[in-house]
Amino acid sequence: MSVHRIVVVGGGAGGLELVTRLGDKYGRGKDVQITLVDRSMSHIWKPLLHEVAAGVMDTATHQLSYVAQANWHHFEFAAGEMIGLDRAAKTIRLAAVPAAADEGEGDLLPERTLPYDTLVLAMGSTTNFFGVPGAQENTIALDTVEQAERFRRRLMAACVRAQNEAEAPVPQAAAQDGGDGGQRAALLSAPGRRKVNLVIVGAGATGVELSAELRNTAEVLRSYGLKLDPRKDVGITIIESSPRILKALPERVSGAVAGLLGKLDVDILCGDSVAEVRKNEVTTTGGKVLPADITVWSAGITAPAVLGTLGLAVNRLNQIEVLPTLQSKTDPDIFAFGDCASCEWPEHGFVPPRAQAAHQQASFLVKAIDARLKGQSLPAFTYRDFGSLVSLGKFSAVGNLMGGLIGGSMFIEGLFARVMYTSLYRMHVAALHGVWRMMLDTVANRLRRSTVPRVKLH
Ligand SMILES: Cc1cc2nc3c(=O)[nH]c(=O)nc-3n(C[C@H](O)[C@H](O)[C@H](O)COP(=O)(O)OP(=O)(O)OC[C@H]3O[C@@H](n4cnc5c(N)ncnc54)[C@H](O)[C@@H]3O)c2cc1C
Repeated sequence: MSVHRIVVVGGGAGGLELVTRLGDKYGRGKDVQITLVDRSMSHIWKPLLHEVAAGVMDTATHQLSYVAQANWHHFEFAAGEMIGLDRAAKTIRLAAVPAAADEGEGDLLPERTLPYDTLVLAMGSTTNFFGVPGAQENTIALDTVEQAERFRRRLMAACVRAQNEAEAPVPQAAAQDGGDGGQRAALLSAPGRRKVNLVIVGAGATGVELSAELRNTAEVLRSYGLKLDPRKDVGITIIESSPRILKALPERVSGAVAGLLGKLDVDILCGDSVAEVRKNEVTTTGGKVLPADITVWSAGITAPAVLGTLGLAVNRLNQIEVLPTLQSKTDPDIFAFGDCASCEWPEHGFVPPRAQAAHQQASFLVKAIDARLKGQSLPAFTYRDFGSLVSLGKFSAVGNLMGGLIGGSMFIEGLFARVMYTSLYRMHVAALHGVWRMMLDTVANRLRRSTVPRVKLH
C-alpha cells in the first residue's frame, strides 16, 4: 500500500492542533505521512498578540517551535510560504526561505514543490485595510509577532520621547518671559505638549482588548519610573464606524465594555470612519483630525491573497468556499478551515473567524480525515457557538456564554469571565501538549511572572 501524504498549510490556532492530533494518531505508522508547512519557524496563539503589543506578555515564553512539536508528535515540518498549487500534479509550491542577515550568503532553502494526497489549507487571515489612503503605510496591524513587537518598541520609544520633552529645559525666550516656574508649568500642560496619542482603528474584540491592555501598560510604566501621568499623558482613542463597539456581540456586552472603557479614560468615537491616515494623524470622514503617535489598524480581516490565485472557489475576502465537510467546493482533495475558509453556518450566515471555530474545525477534521482514509463518507461540520468573551486585561472581562446546559445566552463579567477567557488559551495548550503539560506550563508561567517585570521593558 502506498503512503497517503497529508499536507497541512498553516500552523496556527487550527492547523497546529490538527497536525498534532494527526501525528499522534498516524505518525508512528507507515501508511500515513503528515507534513506541516508554515512560513514561520514558530507558533504563537494569535489571540495573545495584543498582550505582546502592550508588553504584558513575553513571546519567548509562549512561542512554540514547529520543529520541536513535529519531533514530539511524529509529523514532518517544512518551512516556507505557500505560493502556488498544481491541482493536476497534486503539488504545492513553496517560496525559497531567505537567510537572515547573519546567517551567511544564499537562501536557507530553495523554492520547491511538495506532493500531497490530501491538502488542508489553514492559512488564517491578514488585516483588511479596505483601501483607506495611508492605512497600510502608516498603521501597525497585529497579525504577527513581529508586528506586535514593533508596536511595543514604538510605544516604549514614544513614552521615552514624551518624557524627555517634558523634562527638557524651558526655552530661553520662555524663561526670560516671566520666570521659570510658572512658564514651565504652562508649557508642560499645553495641549499635546507631552502627550502620547494612541489611536486604534476598529472596536472589535482586538481593538477593545488592546485599549485596556495599553491603559494597564501606561500605569505599570509609571510604577517603573516613567514620569508621565498614565491617564492624562497617554491618550487612547478607538474609532469605530458602527454605532457601537463590539458590534458582533450582544448589546449588553457592548454596553458593559463601553462603560468600563470610559472608566479607563479610553475615548470611543463611534459612527465615524477613517478617511485617511498620515504619519502622525488620523482624519475621519466626519471631519475630525486626531493626533496619533502610533495608529493600530484592527478594523477587519481578509484571507491571504495567494488563496485567490489557486483556482479554487473563493469569496470576496479570498476565503476558500467550503462544503459542510470542509472540502473545497472546487476540489474534494483539498480542505480549508479556520479564518481562511468560508463555511456556511445555517440560519446565522457563516462560521465566524474565531479561535474557537478553528479549534472545533480541527477536531472535526481529525474525524473527517480518518473517514476519508478508510474510504467512508465524510461527516458534516456543525459549529457550536459557546459565546464570546472580551478581556480588559487586569481590569475585568465581559462576555456571554451560550450552550445547551445554560439554555440560551448568559451575561458574565469580572473574575468568572476572566477565568473563562484564560481557559480558551489553556484549551489550546492542552490540545498541543496534553492536560498535564498545560497545568505545568500554567504553574511555570505564574512562577516566572514573579521574577520578571510586569511589562517587557527592553
Ligand atoms: C489580536 C487578536 C486577538 C484575537 N482574540 C481572539 C479571541 O479572544 N477569541 C477568538 O476566538 N479569536 C480571537 N482572535 C482571532 C483568532 O486569532 C483567529 O480566528 C484564529 O487564530 C484563526 O486560526 P487559524 O488557524 O485559521 O489561523 P492563524 O491562527 O492565523 O494561523 C495561520 C497560520 O498560517 C500561516 N500562513 C499564512 N499564510 C501562509 C502561507 N502562504 N504559507 C505558509 N504558511 C502560511 C501563518 O504563519 C500562521 O501560522 C484574535 C485575533 C487577533 C489578531
